[in-house]
Amino acid sequence: MTDDTQKKDEKHRKAMEKQKAQVDASIAAADVERGVSVLLTGNGKGKSSSAFGMVMRALGYQQKVGVIQFIKGEQLSGEELYLQAQCPDVYFYQMGTGFTWDTQNRAGDIAAAERTWAEAEALLNNADFDLVVLDELTYMLAYDYLDATRVLNAIAQRPTQQSVVVTGRGGGSALQDIMDTVSEVKDIKHAFTSGIKARRGVDF
Ligand code: ATP
Ligand code: MG
Repeated sequence: MTDDTQKKDEKHRKAMEKQKAQVDASIAAADVERGVSVLLTGNGKGKSSSAFGMVMRALGYQQKVGVIQFIKGEQLSGEELYLQAQCPDVYFYQMGTGFTWDTQNRAGDIAAAERTWAEAEALLNNADFDLVVLDELTYMLAYDYLDATRVLNAIAQRPTQQSVVVTGRGGGSALQDIMDTVSEVKDIKHAFTSGIKARRGVDF
């Protein structure tokens, strides 16, 4: 081994030792054991698919999972097909028909949002659920379809051991303030803008 290689190895070993000490100290300092609230926001692709990654993780430990999607139900998605067919133990509810971006039927939209929120609230009140996914919830707040205080209180006052994941662009700073983890997915580029069609298994 040359002197140069030996020096590089030694430098690397010392850097790793220092990093390990820092990681160990952080692990020791994080001693609160409770459910976490996660907000996945931003303009890039990856929010809902990340939430469904957590669904898979939770199911790996036989945890009880509930998924509420605040979207209209015309476009099927792989996650919906899979959960409905293969995971009867996962509670799944989609806002579905009645929600009409197209017709601008505000009263109808609010009724659909309220109906869907009632489902979400029931899960956030039920300590049997380990993980609750509120997919695309932020739009209900952005459009004022749901009362923000009511939504934030239900999330904040959920059972101690329950985790909740909220996805969607925006949602406001009050929502960010109450969440434990907030990640912004940044749009650097997306295939769609180069004319590539949305793809099964990737986009829906
Ligand atoms: P995904 O479900 O793929 O994780 P997402 O939840 O981050 O995406 P949404 O805003 O919910 O994003 O939109 C879902 C659909 O829109 C997906 O088909 C996704 O590929 C597409 N999409 C997401 N971000 C962009 C973007 N910046 N430009 C174009 N299409 C996008
Ligand atoms: Mg999404």
